[in-house]
Amino acid sequence: MKTFFPINQFQSLKTPFYYYDTSLLRETIDCINKEAKKYEKFCVHYAIKSNANPKILSIINEGGLGADCVSGGEIRAALNAGFPNDKIVFAGVGKTDWEIDLGLNNNISCFNVESIPEIEVINDLATAKNKIANVAFRINPNVGAHTHANITTGLAENKFGISMEDVDKVIDLTLGMKNVKFVGLHFHIGSQILDMNDFIALCNRINELQEKLYARQIIVNSINVGGGLGVDYQYPDRQSIPDFATYFATYHKHLRLRPKQTLHFELGRSVVAQCGSLISRVVFVKQGTHKQFVILDAGMTDLIRPALYQAYHKIENITSEEPIETYDVVGPICESSDVFGKAIDINKTHRGDLIAIRSAGAYGEIMASQYNCRELPKGYMSEELI
Ligand code: PLP
Repeated sequence: MKTFFPINQFQSLKTPFYYYDTSLLRETIDCINKEAKKYEKFCVHYAIKSNANPKILSIINEGGLGADCVSGGEIRAALNAGFPNDKIVFAGVGKTDWEIDLGLNNNISCFNVESIPEIEVINDLATAKNKIANVAFRINPNVGAHTHANITTGLAENKFGISMEDVDKVIDLTLGMKNVKFVGLHFHIGSQILDMNDFIALCNRINELQEKLYARQIIVNSINVGGGLGVDYQYPDRQSIPDFATYFATYHKHLRLRPKQTLHFELGRSVVAQCGSLISRVVFVKQGTHKQFVILDAGMTDLIRPALYQAYHKIENITSEEPIETYDVVGPICESSDVFGKAIDINKTHRGDLIAIRSAGAYGEIMASQYNCRELPKGYMSEELI
Protein backbone atom coordinates (compact mmCIF):
# COMPACT_ATOMS: atom_id res chain seq x y z
CA MET A 1 0.00 0.00 0.00
CA LYS A 2 1.55 3.32 -1.08
CA THR A 3 1.21 6.33 1.19
CA PHE A 4 -0.79 9.11 -0.42
CA PHE A 5 0.14 12.62 0.65
CA PRO A 6 -2.68 15.23 0.59
CA ILE A 7 -0.38 17.96 -0.69
CA ASN A 8 -3.10 20.60 -1.08
CA GLN A 9 -4.04 20.27 2.59
CA PHE A 10 -0.35 20.28 3.56
CA GLN A 11 0.15 23.70 1.95
CA SER A 12 -1.84 25.44 4.68
CA LEU A 13 -0.11 23.68 7.61
CA LYS A 14 2.87 25.04 9.48
CA THR A 15 5.90 22.85 8.83
CA PRO A 16 7.57 20.74 10.07
CA PHE A 17 4.88 18.31 11.19
CA TYR A 18 4.27 14.59 11.44
CA TYR A 19 1.70 13.09 9.13
CA TYR A 20 0.19 9.71 10.05
CA ASP A 21 -1.57 7.52 7.52
CA THR A 22 -4.23 6.08 9.83
CA SER A 23 -5.56 3.65 7.18
CA LEU A 24 -2.13 2.03 7.10
CA LEU A 25 -1.99 2.00 10.90
CA ARG A 26 -5.39 0.28 11.11
CA GLU A 27 -4.41 -2.23 8.42
CA THR A 28 -1.20 -2.97 10.31
CA ILE A 29 -3.11 -3.61 13.53
CA ASP A 30 -5.61 -5.82 11.68
CA CYS A 31 -2.72 -7.84 10.27
CA ILE A 32 -1.14 -8.23 13.73
CA ASN A 33 -4.46 -9.43 15.16
CA LYS A 34 -5.07 -11.80 12.27
CA GLU A 35 -1.61 -13.36 12.47
CA ALA A 36 -1.33 -13.49 16.28
CA LYS A 37 -4.81 -15.00 16.64
CA LYS A 38 -3.66 -18.06 14.69
CA TYR A 39 -2.01 -19.07 17.94
CA GLU A 40 -4.44 -19.07 20.83
CA LYS A 41 -1.92 -18.16 23.53
CA PHE A 42 -0.35 -15.16 21.81
CA CYS A 43 -1.07 -11.74 23.24
CA VAL A 44 0.27 -8.50 21.73
CA HIS A 45 1.10 -5.30 23.58
CA TYR A 46 2.15 -2.03 21.98
CA ALA A 47 5.39 -0.43 23.20
CA ILE A 48 4.23 3.11 23.96
CA LYS A 49 7.79 4.42 23.91
CA SER A 50 7.79 4.25 20.11
CA ASN A 51 4.98 6.79 19.70
CA ALA A 52 2.68 8.18 22.40
CA ASN A 53 0.64 10.59 20.28
CA PRO A 54 -2.80 10.35 21.99
CA LYS A 55 -4.64 9.78 18.70
CA ILE A 56 -2.26 7.00 17.70
CA LEU A 57 -2.70 5.43 21.15
CA SER A 58 -6.45 5.53 20.94
CA ILE A 59 -6.44 3.80 17.52
CA ILE A 60 -4.13 1.10 18.90
CA ASN A 61 -6.29 0.68 21.99
CA GLU A 62 -9.38 0.34 19.76
CA GLY A 63 -7.45 -2.36 17.90
CA GLY A 64 -7.32 -4.35 21.14
CA LEU A 65 -3.58 -4.37 21.83
CA GLY A 66 -2.28 -4.05 25.39
CA ALA A 67 0.26 -1.41 26.48
CA ASP A 68 3.92 -1.82 27.38
CA CYS A 69 5.12 1.16 29.40
CA VAL A 70 8.60 2.19 30.56
CA SER A 71 7.73 5.17 32.78
CA GLY A 72 4.97 6.60 34.95
CA GLY A 73 4.26 9.12 32.20
CA GLU A 74 3.65 6.27 29.78
CA ILE A 75 1.32 4.54 32.27
CA ARG A 76 -0.68 7.79 32.44
CA ALA A 77 -0.68 8.09 28.64
CA ALA A 78 -1.94 4.49 28.35
CA LEU A 79 -4.71 5.02 30.92
CA ASN A 80 -5.74 8.33 29.30
CA ALA A 81 -5.99 6.59 25.93
CA GLY A 82 -8.31 4.00 27.48
CA PHE A 83 -6.03 0.97 27.72
CA PRO A 84 -7.51 -1.29 30.41
CA ASN A 85 -5.28 -1.52 33.51
CA ASP A 86 -5.10 -5.30 33.26
CA LYS A 87 -3.49 -4.95 29.83
CA ILE A 88 -0.71 -2.61 31.03
CA VAL A 89 2.79 -3.86 31.85
CA PHE A 90 5.59 -1.70 33.24
CA ALA A 91 9.28 -2.25 32.43
CA GLY A 92 12.39 -0.11 32.97
CA VAL A 93 15.70 -0.31 34.85
CA GLY A 94 15.07 2.67 37.09
CA LYS A 95 11.47 2.76 38.26
CA THR A 96 11.08 5.47 40.90
CA ASP A 97 8.80 5.11 43.93
CA TRP A 98 6.03 7.34 42.54
CA GLU A 99 6.02 5.36 39.31
CA ILE A 100 5.74 2.05 41.17
CA ASP A 101 2.97 3.56 43.34
CA LEU A 102 1.13 4.69 40.21
CA GLY A 103 1.29 1.14 38.85
CA LEU A 104 0.11 -0.30 42.17
CA ASN A 105 -2.72 2.23 42.56
CA ASN A 106 -3.98 1.34 39.11
CA ASN A 107 -3.58 -2.43 39.57
CA ILE A 108 -1.57 -2.84 36.37
CA SER A 109 -1.12 -6.41 35.21
CA CYS A 110 2.63 -6.78 35.73
CA PHE A 111 5.90 -5.11 36.72
CA ASN A 112 8.82 -6.33 34.63
CA VAL A 113 11.54 -6.25 37.25
CA GLU A 114 15.18 -5.71 36.39
CA SER A 115 17.11 -6.04 39.68
CA ILE A 116 17.03 -7.29 43.28
CA PRO A 117 16.83 -3.79 44.81
CA GLU A 118 13.83 -3.08 42.59
CA ILE A 119 11.94 -6.17 43.69
CA GLU A 120 12.57 -5.27 47.33
CA VAL A 121 11.17 -1.77 46.81
CA ILE A 122 8.09 -3.09 44.95
CA ASN A 123 7.46 -5.52 47.81
CA ASP A 124 7.77 -2.71 50.39
CA LEU A 125 5.50 -0.31 48.50
CA ALA A 126 2.93 -3.05 47.85
CA THR A 127 3.03 -4.02 51.54
CA ALA A 128 2.27 -0.41 52.51
CA LYS A 129 -0.84 -0.56 50.32
CA ASN A 130 -1.76 -4.07 51.37
CA LYS A 131 -1.59 -5.20 47.73
CA ILE A 132 0.09 -8.00 45.87
CA ALA A 133 2.03 -6.94 42.78
CA ASN A 134 2.48 -9.34 39.87
CA VAL A 135 6.12 -9.39 38.80
CA ALA A 136 7.99 -10.86 35.88
CA PHE A 137 11.77 -10.92 35.78
CA ARG A 138 13.40 -9.26 32.84
CA ILE A 139 16.18 -11.68 32.01
CA ASN A 140 19.23 -10.63 30.07
CA PRO A 141 19.65 -13.70 27.83
CA ASN A 142 23.06 -12.60 26.50
CA VAL A 143 21.81 -12.91 22.94
CA GLY A 144 23.19 -10.45 20.39
CA ALA A 145 20.92 -8.96 17.74
CA HIS A 146 22.23 -7.99 14.32
CA THR A 147 21.26 -4.37 14.67
CA HIS A 148 22.79 -1.02 15.66
CA ALA A 149 24.94 -1.20 18.83
CA ASN A 150 22.83 1.49 20.51
CA ILE A 151 19.66 -0.57 20.13
CA THR A 152 20.89 -4.00 21.26
CA THR A 153 19.74 -4.65 24.77
CA GLY A 154 20.15 -8.38 25.42
CA LEU A 155 23.93 -8.65 25.84
CA ALA A 156 25.66 -9.19 29.20
CA GLU A 157 27.37 -5.80 28.76
CA ASN A 158 24.02 -3.94 28.50
CA LYS A 159 22.43 -2.39 31.58
CA PHE A 160 19.13 -4.23 31.16
CA GLY A 161 17.74 -7.20 33.03
CA ILE A 162 18.89 -9.87 35.43
CA SER A 163 21.65 -12.23 34.24
CA MET A 164 20.81 -15.88 33.51
CA GLU A 165 23.19 -16.89 36.34
CA ASP A 166 21.30 -14.83 38.93
CA VAL A 167 17.82 -16.12 38.06
CA ASP A 168 17.70 -18.81 40.76
CA LYS A 169 18.82 -16.38 43.44
CA VAL A 170 16.17 -13.81 42.44
CA ILE A 171 13.42 -16.42 42.33
CA ASP A 172 14.31 -17.71 45.79
CA LEU A 173 14.30 -14.20 47.16
CA THR A 174 10.93 -13.43 45.56
CA LEU A 175 9.27 -16.63 46.72
CA GLY A 176 10.04 -15.51 50.26
CA MET A 177 8.26 -12.16 49.79
CA LYS A 178 4.60 -11.75 50.72
CA ASN A 179 3.50 -8.85 48.54
CA VAL A 180 4.90 -9.81 45.16
CA LYS A 181 3.78 -12.72 43.02
CA PHE A 182 6.24 -14.15 40.50
CA VAL A 183 4.19 -14.65 37.32
CA GLY A 184 6.48 -14.45 34.33
CA LEU A 185 9.73 -14.09 32.48
CA HIS A 186 10.46 -11.10 30.29
CA PHE A 187 13.06 -10.61 27.54
CA HIS A 188 13.85 -7.99 24.93
CA ILE A 189 17.02 -8.37 22.86
CA GLY A 190 16.96 -5.21 20.76
CA SER A 191 15.21 -3.33 18.01
CA GLN A 192 15.06 -3.19 14.19
CA ILE A 193 15.74 -6.94 13.96
CA LEU A 194 15.11 -8.45 10.53
CA ASP A 195 17.01 -11.71 10.87
CA MET A 196 14.65 -14.32 12.35
CA ASN A 197 17.72 -16.25 13.58
CA ASP A 198 18.09 -13.65 16.34
CA PHE A 199 14.60 -14.46 17.60
CA ILE A 200 15.34 -18.20 17.25
CA ALA A 201 18.44 -17.71 19.43
CA LEU A 202 16.22 -16.04 22.02
CA CYS A 203 13.72 -18.93 21.87
CA ASN A 204 16.55 -21.41 22.46
CA ARG A 205 17.71 -19.48 25.53
CA ILE A 206 14.19 -19.35 26.91
CA ASN A 207 13.73 -23.09 26.32
CA GLU A 208 16.95 -23.80 28.26
CA LEU A 209 15.87 -21.57 31.11
CA GLN A 210 12.40 -23.10 31.24
CA GLU A 211 13.98 -26.59 31.49
CA LYS A 212 16.10 -25.41 34.39
CA LEU A 213 13.10 -23.90 36.16
CA TYR A 214 10.95 -26.95 35.43
CA ALA A 215 13.53 -29.09 37.22
CA ARG A 216 12.66 -26.95 40.25
CA GLN A 217 8.94 -27.38 39.46
CA ILE A 218 8.60 -23.73 38.59
CA ILE A 219 6.25 -22.94 35.70
CA VAL A 220 5.42 -19.29 35.15
CA ASN A 221 2.10 -18.08 33.72
CA SER A 222 3.58 -15.94 30.99
CA ILE A 223 6.61 -15.50 28.79
CA ASN A 224 7.14 -12.01 27.36
CA VAL A 225 9.60 -11.83 24.47
CA GLY A 226 9.57 -8.03 24.11
CA GLY A 227 9.54 -6.36 20.71
CA GLY A 228 12.21 -5.83 18.11
CA LEU A 229 10.72 -6.70 14.72
CA GLY A 230 12.23 -4.33 12.16
CA VAL A 231 10.80 -2.48 9.17
CA ASP A 232 12.01 -1.74 5.63
CA TYR A 233 13.44 1.79 5.87
CA GLN A 234 14.91 1.60 2.35
CA TYR A 235 11.61 0.88 0.60
CA PRO A 236 8.73 1.98 2.85
CA ASP A 237 6.10 1.28 0.17
CA ARG A 238 7.40 -2.17 -0.82
CA GLN A 239 6.26 -3.92 2.34
CA SER A 240 4.54 -1.22 4.34
CA ILE A 241 3.16 -3.87 6.72
CA PRO A 242 6.00 -5.92 8.25
CA ASP A 243 5.98 -9.69 7.89
CA PHE A 244 4.08 -10.51 11.07
CA ALA A 245 3.13 -13.93 9.70
CA THR A 246 6.76 -15.10 9.66
CA TYR A 247 7.54 -13.36 12.94
CA PHE A 248 4.77 -15.08 14.92
CA ALA A 249 5.33 -18.40 13.13
CA THR A 250 9.00 -18.27 14.18
CA TYR A 251 8.05 -18.05 17.84
CA HIS A 252 5.35 -20.69 17.42
CA LYS A 253 7.86 -23.09 15.90
CA HIS A 254 10.84 -22.49 18.17
CA LEU A 255 9.52 -21.58 21.60
CA ARG A 256 8.32 -24.46 23.72
CA LEU A 257 5.45 -23.08 25.76
CA ARG A 258 4.23 -25.07 28.75
CA PRO A 259 0.53 -25.91 29.05
CA LYS A 260 -1.50 -22.83 30.05
CA GLN A 261 1.44 -20.48 29.47
CA THR A 262 0.70 -17.33 27.47
CA LEU A 263 3.21 -15.67 25.15
CA HIS A 264 3.36 -11.87 25.16
CA PHE A 265 4.90 -9.54 22.59
CA GLU A 266 5.69 -5.84 22.96
CA LEU A 267 5.90 -4.43 19.46
CA GLY A 268 6.67 -0.79 18.85
CA ARG A 269 8.47 0.09 15.63
CA SER A 270 6.74 -2.55 13.51
CA VAL A 271 3.32 -1.16 14.49
CA VAL A 272 3.82 2.55 13.84
CA ALA A 273 7.03 3.26 11.85
CA GLN A 274 5.63 3.04 8.34
CA CYS A 275 2.46 5.03 8.92
CA GLY A 276 4.37 8.20 9.87
CA SER A 277 6.28 10.73 7.77
CA LEU A 278 7.95 13.95 8.84
CA ILE A 279 6.85 16.68 6.43
CA SER A 280 9.15 19.63 6.06
CA ARG A 281 9.60 22.65 3.82
CA VAL A 282 12.79 23.55 2.01
CA VAL A 283 14.19 26.79 3.42
CA PHE A 284 17.12 27.11 1.02
CA VAL A 285 18.98 25.17 -1.64
CA LYS A 286 22.62 26.05 -1.14
CA GLN A 287 25.54 25.39 -3.45
CA GLY A 288 28.53 24.27 -1.34
CA THR A 289 32.13 23.88 -2.53
CA HIS A 290 31.73 20.26 -3.56
CA LYS A 291 28.03 19.54 -3.11
CA GLN A 292 24.56 20.97 -3.02
CA PHE A 293 22.64 21.20 0.23
CA VAL A 294 18.91 21.09 0.73
CA ILE A 295 18.30 22.94 4.00
CA LEU A 296 14.99 21.99 5.65
CA ASP A 297 12.95 23.64 8.36
CA ALA A 298 12.95 20.23 10.14
CA GLY A 299 16.02 19.28 12.09
CA MET A 300 17.41 16.68 14.46
CA THR A 301 15.13 18.16 17.13
CA ASP A 302 12.15 16.83 15.16
CA LEU A 303 13.66 13.48 14.13
CA ILE A 304 16.84 12.51 15.92
CA ARG A 305 17.35 8.98 14.61
CA PRO A 306 19.77 9.89 11.77
CA ALA A 307 21.95 11.95 14.16
CA LEU A 308 21.70 9.45 17.04
CA TYR A 309 21.97 6.11 15.24
CA GLN A 310 23.11 7.12 11.75
CA ALA A 311 19.69 5.75 10.80
CA TYR A 312 18.57 5.80 7.19
CA HIS A 313 15.19 7.28 6.26
CA LYS A 314 13.97 7.53 2.69
CA ILE A 315 13.66 11.16 1.65
CA GLU A 316 11.25 12.29 -1.07
CA ASN A 317 10.47 15.65 -2.64
CA ILE A 318 6.68 15.37 -2.83
CA THR A 319 6.14 18.60 -4.79
CA SER A 320 8.70 18.24 -7.60
CA GLU A 321 8.73 15.97 -10.62
CA GLU A 322 11.85 17.50 -12.16
CA PRO A 323 14.86 15.31 -13.01
CA ILE A 324 16.81 13.69 -10.17
CA GLU A 325 19.73 15.55 -8.58
CA THR A 326 22.03 14.68 -5.70
CA TYR A 327 21.97 16.64 -2.44
CA ASP A 328 22.96 16.47 1.20
CA VAL A 329 19.67 16.99 3.04
CA VAL A 330 20.24 18.82 6.32
CA GLY A 331 18.39 20.65 9.07
CA PRO A 332 18.80 24.17 10.50
CA ILE A 333 20.16 23.18 13.94
CA CYS A 334 23.56 24.41 15.01
CA GLU A 335 25.14 20.94 15.09
CA SER A 336 27.10 19.24 12.31
CA SER A 337 25.29 15.99 13.05
CA ASP A 338 22.01 17.64 11.97
CA VAL A 339 21.97 15.74 8.69
CA PHE A 340 19.08 13.63 7.38
CA GLY A 341 21.01 12.10 4.51
CA LYS A 342 24.16 12.57 2.45
CA ALA A 343 24.33 12.25 -1.35
CA ILE A 344 20.59 11.68 -1.61
CA ASP A 345 18.99 11.43 -5.04
CA ILE A 346 15.71 13.34 -5.18
CA ASN A 347 13.81 15.37 -7.75
CA LYS A 348 15.37 18.77 -8.43
CA THR A 349 14.52 20.85 -5.42
CA HIS A 350 13.66 24.52 -4.90
CA ARG A 351 12.99 26.77 -1.94
CA GLY A 352 9.45 26.15 -0.68
CA ASP A 353 9.19 22.51 -1.84
CA LEU A 354 7.76 19.93 0.55
CA ILE A 355 9.98 17.05 1.62
CA ALA A 356 8.70 13.83 3.20
CA ILE A 357 11.05 11.88 5.46
CA ARG A 358 9.51 8.43 5.47
CA SER A 359 9.13 5.63 8.06
CA ALA A 360 9.25 8.19 10.85
CA GLY A 361 6.26 7.01 12.89
CA ALA A 362 8.37 5.17 15.47
CA TYR A 363 10.89 6.95 17.69
CA GLY A 364 10.23 10.18 15.77
CA GLU A 365 7.69 12.59 17.26
CA ILE A 366 8.14 11.06 20.71
CA MET A 367 11.87 11.83 20.73
CA ALA A 368 11.48 15.44 19.57
CA SER A 369 13.14 18.12 21.70
CA GLN A 370 13.09 21.87 21.97
CA TYR A 371 16.84 22.33 21.59
CA ASN A 372 17.60 25.73 20.00
CA CYS A 373 14.29 26.93 21.55
CA ARG A 374 12.33 25.34 18.76
CA GLU A 375 8.65 24.43 18.85
CA LEU A 376 7.73 20.77 19.06
CA PRO A 377 6.31 19.42 15.79
CA LYS A 378 2.57 18.74 15.64
CA GLY A 379 1.14 15.40 14.51
CA TYR A 380 -1.77 15.21 12.03
CA MET A 381 -3.81 12.13 11.23
CA SER A 382 -4.73 11.48 7.58
CA GLU A 383 -8.40 11.15 8.55
CA GLU A 384 -8.36 14.71 9.96
CA LEU A 385 -7.11 16.21 6.70
CA ILE A 386 -9.69 14.80 4.30
N1 PLP B 1 9.97 -3.73 25.02
C1 PLP B 1 11.02 -3.15 25.61
C2 PLP B 1 11.36 -3.55 27.00
C3 PLP B 1 11.80 -2.20 24.93
O1 PLP B 1 12.84 -1.64 25.53
C4 PLP B 1 11.45 -1.86 23.60
C5 PLP B 1 12.24 -0.91 22.80
O2 PLP B 1 13.36 -0.61 23.02
C6 PLP B 1 10.33 -2.47 23.02
C7 PLP B 1 9.62 -3.40 23.76
C8 PLP B 1 9.87 -2.14 21.63
O3 PLP B 1 10.80 -2.49 20.69
P1 PLP B 1 10.51 -2.30 19.13
O4 PLP B 1 10.10 -0.90 18.90
O5 PLP B 1 11.81 -2.63 18.49
O6 PLP B 1 9.44 -3.29 18.75
